[in-house]
Amino acid sequence: MAVVAAACGGRAHPETAPAPAAATAAGAFDERTYLRLRMLMVPVAGVRPEQVHDSYAEARSGGRVHHAVDILAPRGTAVLAADEGRVLRLRRNTLGGITIYAVDPADRYVYYYAHLERYASALTEGAVVAKGQVIGYVGTTGDAPANTPHLHFQIMRRPNAARWWDGDPVDPTPYFALPGRATFGG
Ligand SMILES: [Zn+2]
Repeated sequence: MAVVAAACGGRAHPETAPAPAAATAAGAFDERTYLRLRMLMVPVAGVRPEQVHDSYAEARSGGRVHHAVDILAPRGTAVLAADEGRVLRLRRNTLGGITIYAVDPADRYVYYYAHLERYASALTEGAVVAKGQVIGYVGTTGDAPANTPHLHFQIMRRPNAARWWDGDPVDPTPYFALPGRATFGG
């Protein structure tokens, strides 16, 4: 990782630039560089970065904007941790169905995984996860169409501990660096 950081030298990569909202008021923290260096894995087994359709800005029901990506895969395909870190919450909700909220090692971002068929066995809140660890399985819980199993994956800036579900979204598509491949677990 240190070699990669040195090679990049902090230069801008406009070809992978996300929405302008990435700039922070503080200015000192470079979100694009940070997320690029996370080397995020596509969180579905067998899916490569270039296969992820960027549906971040698409409209959804009720006047909402998607602010996430949908990664289609057969029901039961392993869902993988996109980054190392830990499990923040395991929750069930109307839209997302069976979901996981996880955080990166520095607690800057929340990774949200939704529409799961089920969790990986023994997954618990607070558990440390490795990148590529099997954390669940693709399904259609929540408002996902029954005939279109997929993982709804979202990255949010973590606002503060009390509102862990409500951070500003970031388009994950430019930051997928590794193909989905299970390291262990399940
Ligand atoms: Zn979605």
